[in-house]
Amino acid sequence: LPSGPARTRFAPSPTGYLHLGSLRTALFNYLLAKRTGGQFLLRIEDTDQKRLVPDAEQRLCDDLRWAGIQWDEGPQVGGPYGPYKQSERTPLYQKHAQELVESKAAFRCFCSSTAQAPVDVDASLVGSAIGGCHSDCASIPLEESAERARNEKHAVRFGKPDKAPSWSDLVYGKVSLESKKTLPQRAAVEGVILLKGDGTPTYHLANVIDDHYMKITHVIRGTEWMSSTPLHAALYNAFGWTPPAFAHVGLLTDKDQAKLSKRNFDTDIGALKTKHGILPESLANFLALLGWRNPTRDDVMEMNKLIDLFDLKFTKGNSIVSFDKLWYLQKNHAKIIIERAMQSSTADPSFENLLDLLESAARTAYPNSRALATQDLRIYMTKILFIDAKTYENPSSYVERNAYFFTTLPPASPSPDTSISKSDLHTAAMDVLKNFDQTVTKDVIISAPTYTEIKTRLDATIAEYAKVIGEMKEWSKHLHHYLREKLCFGRPGPGSSQVMAVLGHEECWRRLEV
Ligand SMILES: [Zn+2]
Repeated sequence: LPSGPARTRFAPSPTGYLHLGSLRTALFNYLLAKRTGGQFLLRIEDTDQKRLVPDAEQRLCDDLRWAGIQWDEGPQVGGPYGPYKQSERTPLYQKHAQELVESKAAFRCFCSSTAQAPVDVDASLVGSAIGGCHSDCASIPLEESAERARNEKHAVRFGKPDKAPSWSDLVYGKVSLESKKTLPQRAAVEGVILLKGDGTPTYHLANVIDDHYMKITHVIRGTEWMSSTPLHAALYNAFGWTPPAFAHVGLLTDKDQAKLSKRNFDTDIGALKTKHGILPESLANFLALLGWRNPTRDDVMEMNKLIDLFDLKFTKGNSIVSFDKLWYLQKNHAKIIIERAMQSSTADPSFENLLDLLESAARTAYPNSRALATQDLRIYMTKILFIDAKTYENPSSYVERNAYFFTTLPPASPSPDTSISKSDLHTAAMDVLKNFDQTVTKDVIISAPTYTEIKTRLDATIAEYAKVIGEMKEWSKHLHHYLREKLCFGRPGPGSSQVMAVLGHEECWRRLEV
């Protein structure tokens, strides 16, 4: 870990929505800033105006906040080094491109292909930016070049660097342009376009200038950017600036080592939260474990624990994304959230979010349910969560598992053989119910004492009947089974006394009467 506070940033392009890989990058940078008492910045890299998606910037902001990642400086919050949108910083990039031309680190290129068809390069296409200068514009004397620039359209390209650019990577150690093993073949520096024919910067120029002026100390990013880093290192050299420390982390892949994409999973954060009911707590936890070496044995961590434990120990190579792990974390985080809500009397946003997801799933699955029509679904759902706190994976599977709270179901299993008659069991069950005062659950959130009370009465009734035939175990087993059969249609789940407390007197009566 760095000795002082780290300033980190997340710099997405609003040309698409946040996905798993980019959210993980944001999270790592956020964790490093928070761990070291530094600042985390959000910068919108919107230099490629043609590919902008209109609502992408707002969605990026919403999704980051949803995931628990709040930036200290950036759009919507401001800060001392703004503006934080590259489209509002164009003059700064032009000024610095000019400086590079004057110091001969860069040159103006007047070739029609580059001047008229400005292409922005994304990280994986650095190589394609060279070529295109077919008249050796680098050799045009500076004065002549300045003269022509007055009325000729031109781009600015990086020249031949003085020395082979290299950097000390926090994951890969010393890397230089010659490190063929670490760097992909296409990594290029010479001739790469910095300023396009229309006067707007390419990603590389804007990124380096902004990181410098925003005083970024650490950049954690995916290895897909590694082919751009030699160029960035060369730009820092050319400007005479100290580069930030770079850490390149592996890509996210599926189990067949294929890069994670829309084809193998919904990697869009919007889909994960709405369609799959992923909790923000589970997702942050899940992503932190992809590429970072958790020093503890316990993988279930909330954000504050992640911050406390975070360091720069990343695994080399790609991370395989196993969604089984995500479901495991979902169960654990839901349990933490539910148990916290049970202890607290004030509304908790995480618990409210869980209720939102389940409320909508229940309305979709059981549109005609009497439970939905006759009572406050949020209170009802809260009661269900309190008695079944450990099984949440996603909203639809949860309401399906708890279907008997919403609807009648065909009987699941035949009653086991017993010498106790059905009518004796029925009479006993009705006795239990008569003892069960409906005021116990009316309008109050179910609490542990309520269950204890109902369970005590249930046990007392069983003991009463057991006295008659002198077989406690037999009675207990069959009365419980009878209650489950009637109240839960034989489905597994929380204990009968808890189910009775949630269903309420009236509904229990209705189900037992049948
Ligand atoms: Zn040229």
